[in-house]
Amino acid sequence: MLRRLLIILLLYGVLSPVLPAFAQEPAPPARGGAQTVAIAASPVVAVDWKTHVLQPAETFACLVQRSGMSWEAVAQHNHLLNPTQLSAGMAVTMPLPTRPQTVLAAHAQDTRLSLAVQTGRALWEVIRYNPDPLHVGGAVLLPGAEMQNCFPYPLVNLSLTPQPLVRGKTALLSLETAEPASCEATYLGQTEPCYTDDGTHLYVLLGVSALSDAGDYEIVVRLITDGLETFLRVPLKVAAGRYGYQVINPPAALNKLMDAALMQGEIDYLANWRVIRTPERQWQFPLDFPLPQKVSVSADYGDRRSYGGLVNGYHSGVDYRAWTGLSVVAPAGGVVLLTEKLEARGNAILIDHGWGLVTGYWHLSQSNVKVGQHVQRGDVIGKVGNTGLSTGSHLHWEVWVNGVSVDGKQWLAADTWAQADLTALSVLPVAVPFEVAEPQ
Ligand SMILES: [Zn+2]
Repeated sequence: MLRRLLIILLLYGVLSPVLPAFAQEPAPPARGGAQTVAIAASPVVAVDWKTHVLQPAETFACLVQRSGMSWEAVAQHNHLLNPTQLSAGMAVTMPLPTRPQTVLAAHAQDTRLSLAVQTGRALWEVIRYNPDPLHVGGAVLLPGAEMQNCFPYPLVNLSLTPQPLVRGKTALLSLETAEPASCEATYLGQTEPCYTDDGTHLYVLLGVSALSDAGDYEIVVRLITDGLETFLRVPLKVAAGRYGYQVINPPAALNKLMDAALMQGEIDYLANWRVIRTPERQWQFPLDFPLPQKVSVSADYGDRRSYGGLVNGYHSGVDYRAWTGLSVVAPAGGVVLLTEKLEARGNAILIDHGWGLVTGYWHLSQSNVKVGQHVQRGDVIGKVGNTGLSTGSHLHWEVWVNGVSVDGKQWLAADTWAQADLTALSVLPVAVPFEVAEPQ
């Protein structure tokens, strides 16, 4: 005990010239000790130090503000020299407020009086929690209703699942906000809008290609509400996963299709539809199986492929073993983007389901739909076939998320994104008009 006190005294001596404010702060209790230390009264007294694991997008500044203690006192207690080095998943010891409180951000024209009126609190209470004048974007503490996480306003909740994400799969980033908001997310070199049915539950589907490098990435979310712009940084972990390797030796009759220029031309042509983003969601999670009966996979998504050693690539969809003439059904509602005969992909159909989700069907013997046609979940859109560069009847099913070919099997499994609340995505949205204020 004496040694610990000595260390604290030494730290005081060392730190006080650097951090002059520290000397005026109450000393936090010793790390790991069970002792109770008397703390001088401050506007919002914190006495109970608890370990808190930082959530993605949670800020140390918000936690400190909520604690009512100074940054220096909390940083010193955690042996932190630079709190910007904190990241999600790290544990910090925080003084928990003795009274429940809410953290808001000050908007332009907000005053302590106007906030007291708006939130139904007494003015003296608001002033007691916020002794200094407000500034735009700064945190405002209000008594009552403690938040579970310490996200910057207007964020109420945030989840990213699954983590880590195996490349080739889809992650779901979901945000909940205290008032209608809009946002966009930048990850792996692309910027995509957040989609919402009700204005306060926002979603971004992150399709990560099977060809991406495994590693640690970051999603930067720009969240906008009522003139306030907030940037959130969410770590994204991408794992390599296991993918197979196939050597395919097509019959001589198909040799003319194994031409690199022809293949590239078709890839470039299809890229025109990879940029489609429609804000109306017509899919429900999970998607229906694209055939009227369950059949086995004959070639899986993500397998590296070599066609007779002439053309190399990876398998961008799932091949289902099926016979010519079997119906192909729409796994969700949508609008037909493309239906035509391509050289390598044979008779092809693309359907836009909204929110950046597009599905594709190759090698069909027949298409039953027209471009621009609305289809419902379960509608027959065509028949399985063996057209184009195909060595036997099968359905090649392609799933694009924000333009990236991903593993469609994940979209059929109800336990995908298990950590997120998917209730809202399991039903089609009811059209409720809402307005999101644009930033000034
Ligand atoms: Zn295929």
